[in-house]
Amino acid sequence: PMPEETGSRPVVSSPKRTKEIIARHGFSFKKSLGQNFLIDHNILNKIVDAAELNEHKGALEIGPGIGALTEQLARTAGKVTAVEIDQRLIPILAEVLEGYENTEVVHGDVLKLDLQALFRERFGDMEGVSVVANLPYYVTTPILMKLLEERLPLEHIVVMIQKEVAERIAAAPGSKAYGSLSVAAQYYCEPRMVCIVPHTVFIPQPNVDSAVIRLAVRKTPPVELKDEEQFFRIVQGSFAQRRKTLANNLSALLGKDRREEINTLLTDCEIEPSRRGETLSLQEFARLSNAVVDKGWL
Ligand code: SAM
Repeated sequence: PMPEETGSRPVVSSPKRTKEIIARHGFSFKKSLGQNFLIDHNILNKIVDAAELNEHKGALEIGPGIGALTEQLARTAGKVTAVEIDQRLIPILAEVLEGYENTEVVHGDVLKLDLQALFRERFGDMEGVSVVANLPYYVTTPILMKLLEERLPLEHIVVMIQKEVAERIAAAPGSKAYGSLSVAAQYYCEPRMVCIVPHTVFIPQPNVDSAVIRLAVRKTPPVELKDEEQFFRIVQGSFAQRRKTLANNLSALLGKDRREEINTLLTDCEIEPSRRGETLSLQEFARLSNAVVDKGWL
């Protein structure tokens, strides 16, 4: 367990110290930047534990805020880099993280940052790197997709996100929450829910419930694809209109005049044309998209 004191001072995440830091710096929260700071040491412990860090591992944090999570990462990982967009937080982070030689703060927008270069320069000597963050909710999906699509050499992604988004990421075929985000996340990772988090552990409190999710990044994909880009276009297309059948959605994507051919193709792939996209497994989507690639329809 992580100590709740740093020398003689309480950890940043204690509600009292958080309020003191915010007041002393005259900091005002920006809703537009998704600023909800964690003030619960147990939740921080759970997040850090789920990332399985040690002194040989690196941690990339996105949106450190006033450094509550950063401080615990600094005590657990070999190296920590935290990327924060809000200039006003930079001096606060410098104060809070003073003395942690293994930790650096980068001022910038994570969506615009060259993460490949950052990984090479900063984490080249680490045995593994994980992303650990309480994400700004307004950009959860773009951030996760950037991390995954760029194929960064990541071990785990442990993030606090909106509960509803976490459920979509981990959803199984046939469930209401299953959609293109589930397929994409499960293609790149193995997701596991860590815990559901009540909104009372933040200041200010967000309007939605949250969850911590852990994504173990796969070393090799779970299915063999002839064309990854076409796979994702087929997946997107299959979910385009959730009330329509797979055959209907596919003919909107592949050509209305191909309706009969699409039915035959689906049957050949052992997928009943009247099914809905949301019932298809990753393996079925792979089979289908490989068959479409063979036909040259996309
Ligand atoms: N890690 C802190 C905590 O747990 O208390 C703060 C988390 S708060 C939910 C999200 C943080 O992400 C804020 O500090 C916000 O300024 C920052 N942020 C928002 N958009 C960002 C972006 N595009 N790139 C980097 N940081 C961003």
